[in-house]
Amino acid sequence: MSKLTGKVALVTGSGRRKGIGSVCARRLAEEGASVVVTDIDTSFSDFPNYKVGSGDELTAVAEDIRSLGVDALPIFADVSDPESVQSLVSEAKEVFGRIDILINNAGCSPGPAPLTQFTLAAWEKTLAVNLTGTFLCCREVVPLMIAKGGGKIVNISSRAARRGAMWMHAYSASKAGMLGLTSSMALELASFNICVNAVLPGDIETELKQWGLEMEAQVKGTTVQALKEEIARATPLGRLGTPEDVAALVAFLASPDSDYLTGEVINISGGHGLGNATAKPNF
Ligand code: NAD
Repeated sequence: MSKLTGKVALVTGSGRRKGIGSVCARRLAEEGASVVVTDIDTSFSDFPNYKVGSGDELTAVAEDIRSLGVDALPIFADVSDPESVQSLVSEAKEVFGRIDILINNAGCSPGPAPLTQFTLAAWEKTLAVNLTGTFLCCREVVPLMIAKGGGKIVNISSRAARRGAMWMHAYSASKAGMLGLTSSMALELASFNICVNAVLPGDIETELKQWGLEMEAQVKGTTVQALKEEIARATPLGRLGTPEDVAALVAFLASPDSDYLTGEVINISGGHGLGNATAKPNF
């Protein structure tokens, strides 16, 4: 029997095939879980040029997961909308009767800009999705976990929570807020056998990262390829991360192997920030 057989997972922001969310959903399914995959349908009406939303891809992600021989339920929902989150969770409950694992992965960063030009609309949208969305999903799912004797919550934060990110003030603040939420929930929910942990991805190759790099390349007058090479040089493990790297950690945090681990914040960044790894020891 696989580690997650009989469990039901809900992964937000899992409708884009190459995103961290869908790869996590697939990995949890490989471990035996049934998965609710959910994403916002279309792009934000207030930020039409910001690439977000999964459209038809969400159904394809669910079909891909079903091909592994487990159940997958695709539901469109906006995590920043309390009513949308309520109907998401009640539909999942109707179909599966339980949710044991919640991966808060939905995230965005529209309208990056220097501080003095940062709009209130971009600030509020980012906090609404990344931080309020995480809170709303936890608030709806936790009663189901308590009813079944426990659960696992994994919050996908970011390295930016601790180290900041140029022009992404709202993003950094929202991801830092997720860490406070992780600690307070871990404390409160431990007696219900619910473990709450956060992961901080570094540079992970996804569409979101590609968009960020394209913007940075434009500002710095360089190329995306040159920026990637720069990141790889600054990363002791010598490369950017993949969604699969993150999914492996998430699967561990969702499994019984991590039953004595709660309130933790775990970097997954190839050692980025440890220092200069260019000088190889001469063994
Ligand atoms: P992505 O854009 O593919 O994934 C984000 C997903 O969230 C998208 O599918 C998007 O449609 C969805 N989403 C956005 N707003 C939503 C809303 N209101 N309701 C529901 N879903 C919504 O990018 P990704 O790189 O796979 O990022 C996944 C998570 O990992 C994000 O939270 C991101 O902040 C975080 N992260 C990524 C990196 C990286 O380098 N790629 C680094 C650190 C953290």
